[in-house]
Amino acid sequence: MSILILAEHDGQQLKKAARQTISAAQAWGLPVHLLLVGDNTAAAAASAAQVAGVARVIHVDAPHLAHPLAEDVSAIVVGLARDYKVLVSAHTTFAKNILPRAAALLDVAMVADVIGIKAPNTYARPIYAGSVLATVENSDALQVVTVRATSFDAAVDGGNAEITTLPAPAASGKSRWVSEVRNESDQPDLASAPVVISGGRSLGEQFHQLLTPLAQKLEGAVGATRAAVDAGYAPNDWQVGQTGTIVAPGLYIAAGISGAAQHLAGMKDSKIIVAINHDPDAPIFSVADYGLVADLFEALPALTAAIGK
Ligand code: FAD
Repeated sequence: MSILILAEHDGQQLKKAARQTISAAQAWGLPVHLLLVGDNTAAAAASAAQVAGVARVIHVDAPHLAHPLAEDVSAIVVGLARDYKVLVSAHTTFAKNILPRAAALLDVAMVADVIGIKAPNTYARPIYAGSVLATVENSDALQVVTVRATSFDAAVDGGNAEITTLPAPAASGKSRWVSEVRNESDQPDLASAPVVISGGRSLGEQFHQLLTPLAQKLEGAVGATRAAVDAGYAPNDWQVGQTGTIVAPGLYIAAGISGAAQHLAGMKDSKIIVAINHDPDAPIFSVADYGLVADLFEALPALTAAIGK
């Protein structure tokens, strides 16, 4: 028996979260197979086959899978499931749309957002916005799991997996892809950026003006609190936290952020946290490695000017 990872890719290569899932999957000590679904995924499959720790890459190609829909992908996963002991994916919007559906169709439980695999059926996962770590045991013969990718290092190249092409089932016809609206942005991907500079609602209309030059100098991505997003200062997909993106960059700068539990849930695993807040009692300082008690309208321009000097 093996492990099947539903692996997200961009048509050419695996996304970083898929590589992190490959690392996580090593904990089960079973051969790791990847499932890539899409249209013309041969290049992505060839690239995935080079990743260390992967025994087999299965790719399923069809024009109707160019924009994979949950009904179609979950049917593929369910069709393969009987040969596997574990179905796993990164806890991204892609997998959150598919694995619960597959688990329901297979009549098994699913354990979501796992940050540690303690035994083949026992997991650590955060609850109450990360304030408590629960240990969860799943007695089903087939384990269906999503892992929090940022809790695991990305697997590197060094493998030579077998590649298998499987025919795609016909489209379910229950839903169809109509269109997508993307926020075009030249900033690095928030979830995988090595540096993230986030701002709270206190930045107001100066949100972009204060954060973007600093992010550009540090080659980082800009993030935001939900309060900043709700106020319209930052786009929705910049939200960091429990209901936004979970990040764990090498450096996280939190400017004018109070440090609510729901925000901390999305960034407290960052390697180095720098907080700038004029309130010395702000909860963000409890997770910060470096704290600056200052007015951000003075501190941020000074920091931006100082970097690179
Ligand atoms: P505030 O809490 O208003 O804090 C502003 C901070 O700025 C204060 O600490 C203040 O001292 C400081 N400040 C003000 N002016 C200055 C200045 N001139 N210089 C320096 N510092 C200054 N939030 C998230 O971020 N992400 C989530 O995913 C998320 N999910 C949620 C889910 C649920 C179910 C709920 C109920 C809430 C969620 N929230 C989330 C909201 C969260 O509870 C907080 O309301 C939010 O994070 C607060 O944002 P903030 O820090 O920008 O604002």
